[in-house]
Amino acid sequence: MALSPKILIVAGTDPTGGAGIVRDIETASHFSVKVGLAVTSVNIQNDLHVEAKLPMYGDFIRGQMLAALEADSISAIKVGMTGTPEIVHAICGVLAEFPDIPVILDPVIRASSGGVLADDMTVAAIKQDLLQYCYLTTPNLQELAALTDHGLAKDHAHAIMQAKALVEAGSKFVLAKGGHETGKLATDSLVSSDSIRDFSIPRLNATMRGTGCTLSTAIACEMAKGKTIEQAVGTAKAYVFELLRMQPVAV
Ligand code: PLP
Repeated sequence: MALSPKILIVAGTDPTGGAGIVRDIETASHFSVKVGLAVTSVNIQNDLHVEAKLPMYGDFIRGQMLAALEADSISAIKVGMTGTPEIVHAICGVLAEFPDIPVILDPVIRASSGGVLADDMTVAAIKQDLLQYCYLTTPNLQELAALTDHGLAKDHAHAIMQAKALVEAGSKFVLAKGGHETGKLATDSLVSSDSIRDFSIPRLNATMRGTGCTLSTAIACEMAKGKTIEQAVGTAKAYVFELLRMQPVAV
């Protein structure tokens, strides 16, 4: 294992720094992990809305990813916002050439402002083409519903069933995130073809933008350091919990 592991981040921008690449780099820096970067989409957005998106050409994303992968040893790849089917396919083309690097996918579909970051065609491409390259996918409840084409999960057991459908679609592990559920505990379940492992922390009355970006990048960093997926998820969740604990209490 390299002394200073490096991950490749493939993601979109948020000029406010609330989500996307800025969060990813801040997180990697906290975990002392170096970063290579492929920008998928330059966005104009803030906490209230997504105003415009400028998706990169597929070839441009391929070129960025290859430049990063050829420059240095990359120990994990985090994929966040993709944005268009063309981008999904460009990413898949590169991932197929580097099958030994674990891929952690945060399947970004909407910003918490409500703005759409992946339309139905892009969601279909993620499901049909990208999931098969993923070691771990980290959907929230809305993303689980969109990717499985089912309604929003009625309860956590239903969310786990939807996560199993994504495992069948090709992702080796799926972390079904319960952050948007209700109850005293916020439970995420790590689902594979033959196991379910729950990670629970007390639910906090706080919100923060970019928690999905932060969690998936923290997991990628810990995996790049050689941790098991269970250790990586546990550490990443504890980190997000600490960040949420420092937020002002929502009223
Ligand atoms: N914008 C970009 C570019 C993202 O990658 C993400 C990641 O989930 C989001 C927005 C969504 O973040 P939030 O739910 O905090 O709006």
